[in-house]
Amino acid sequence: MEEYDIAIIGGGPAGIMAAIAASQNSSSVILLEKNSSLGRKLLLTGGGRCNITNNKPIKKLLSFFNNKNFLKHSFYSFTNNDLFSLFDFDFITEDDDRVFPVSGKSVDVLKGLSDKLENVVISYNFEVKTITDGFVINDKLKADKIILATGGVTYPQTGCSKDNYFLTSQPITDIKYGLSPLITCNDLSGIAGVTLKDVVVSYNKSKVRGNVLISHIGLTGPAIINLSNEISRDISYNLLEGDVDLDLVIGIDLCPDFSHEELLDKFTNDFQTRGKTHLKNYLKNFLTNSFIDYFLNQVSLNCDLELSRVNKKSKNRLIENLKRFTFKITGFNGDLAKITIGGVDLTNVNSKTMESTLIPNLYFAGEILNLHGPTGGYNLKIAFSTGYLAGLSASKKVI
Ligand SMILES: Cc1cc2nc3c(=O)[nH]c(=O)nc-3n(C[C@H](O)[C@H](O)[C@H](O)COP(=O)(O)OP(=O)(O)OC[C@H]3O[C@@H](n4cnc5c(N)ncnc54)[C@H](O)[C@@H]3O)c2cc1C
Repeated sequence: MEEYDIAIIGGGPAGIMAAIAASQNSSSVILLEKNSSLGRKLLLTGGGRCNITNNKPIKKLLSFFNNKNFLKHSFYSFTNNDLFSLFDFDFITEDDDRVFPVSGKSVDVLKGLSDKLENVVISYNFEVKTITDGFVINDKLKADKIILATGGVTYPQTGCSKDNYFLTSQPITDIKYGLSPLITCNDLSGIAGVTLKDVVVSYNKSKVRGNVLISHIGLTGPAIINLSNEISRDISYNLLEGDVDLDLVIGIDLCPDFSHEELLDKFTNDFQTRGKTHLKNYLKNFLTNSFIDYFLNQVSLNCDLELSRVNKKSKNRLIENLKRFTFKITGFNGDLAKITIGGVDLTNVNSKTMESTLIPNLYFAGEILNLHGPTGGYNLKIAFSTGYLAGLSASKKVI
């Protein structure tokens, strides 16, 4: 039976980074990957451009995650500058501090990382199915230490699977969709492709500002997928027990820069002074052109109505809907959920080392952990930082 100091299971960003860090101290590291190549999900990130991290200062950055205290040590142990120093090309920072490789190609990031694996044995097409006593993997090889970096459950075509949560006896929290488009029962066929720019979406007390993209079956775009995290956290379900339907309403503030009162004042004034203007034309000041017909249809007002003919009741209905246009949500579009919420329960993992507090010499890294962030480079940040710390800690224990 082959024997290694450290076996890393899963060749995504977390596993690759763990292997890079571990191989600095140990010459006996094996990376086991189920697919015939590394980093399939990494290649899809940022629409193929790889939003590799987020450049906010660490203290501010941490506030965006579900468990900032757990992540603190890993973020300080492996900073963005440490990450950038691994590559022989530059990165650019775009709006909201999102960082991309200058080439705009995730394949370059994967290649840059893979080039650092020269001291690591890589075994492709190796799906770990069992880990038995003494860290014997698939009855084939043995390791002193194991780093589990098998990811979450979404995008199964990239290699993820629910089965991985049962490879060890480590407690797991509820598993949920994260950063997911939402499905609505509203008929959107006439407006699919329309973007509502810089609106505020809300569910209960959660509010997220950003763009909403309308698809044939529902809503997506940064504001919606970030709101989906709030929805997922708020409702009780567990994907390990079955899928989930939703029955809830979300609101969209289509004019977030105006208060209800400001709109009322403005409309009252404009409806008098511009009485001959058609409602549809007037609303171009507030709404994307291609959304106006749908909007007016939903609020039961005629596009060609002249402003002077809009009565008080209709004016109020107009303003109410501009401030809170609702969609009934019937589900997550789980096939397109970018991340998994939930995973290995952090109460049983040492945040200074990523080692299990229940099973010595077992480490975790990346999305398998109960850690998640919004869209914007935050989730790869988790993968790289926890991966690095897990690899470093496991190899330090080897010495
Ligand atoms: C479409 C899309 C776009 C995204 N864009 C961004 C972005 O721009 N920025 C960002 O920060 N985040 C983004 N994310 C999220 C980010 O990709 C993930 O959070 C990140 O890939 C998690 O890394 P990981 O290494 O933990 O898991 P994964 O990347 O899922 O890697 C896990 C690896 O383990 C392997 N594996 C699984 N089970 C086994 C097994 N039993 N035996 C052996 N190998 C196994 C898998 O094949 C896979 O290679 C995006 C996600 C998606 C789906």
